[in-house]
Amino acid sequence: MNFLQVLIDNLRKGPATEPFPFGDASTPAAYRGRVAIDQDACVGCRMCEHVCAGGAIRFAEDNEALHLVIWHNTCVSCGLCAVYCPTKAITLTNNWHVSHRQEDKYKQVDHVTIPYSACTSCGVVFLKAQDPLMQLAYKTVGANETRLRDLCPDCRRVESSRGARP
Ligand code: SF4
Ligand code: SF4
Repeated sequence: MNFLQVLIDNLRKGPATEPFPFGDASTPAAYRGRVAIDQDACVGCRMCEHVCAGGAIRFAEDNEALHLVIWHNTCVSCGLCAVYCPTKAITLTNNWHVSHRQEDKYKQVDHVTIPYSACTSCGVVFLKAQDPLMQLAYKTVGANETRLRDLCPDCRRVESSRGARP
């Protein structure tokens, strides 16, 4: 096959490699890239922190909220957090654009704030269960479940002892 024939064949077949960086590169659906959190689904159970192989997830709390911090440059993309998260609030996206300059390593951080709520009975602040957890527990989130969810654990116990479903 002469050079001209090879050239014609290659032009006919088109590019055989990804166009990156002049276009986006495709990634497999199951690729384990940058971690993402759905703040509305997180129930603050801290399981992700417990299982995190790289020590990339840390929690802190103050009087108003629970704060979750993810250090992306420490994440080893093991996927354990996503496997053990009860509400699937944490996922590994197929975003592989995670390289960064050394001087930017402390900027590779995401913060998630999960605010506390006031108990509708006694007013004490607590971490209220989110809908995904309620769905897991009760399969439905009706008026009774919603009312109990708005109570702190102590008031919920009192309410449950009166016959309401816990
Ligand atoms: S992201 Fe998931 S595992 Fe981590 S605290 Fe939130 S609900 Fe729990
Ligand atoms: S993928 Fe692994 S290392 Fe990264 S945050 Fe999740 S548990 Fe931690």
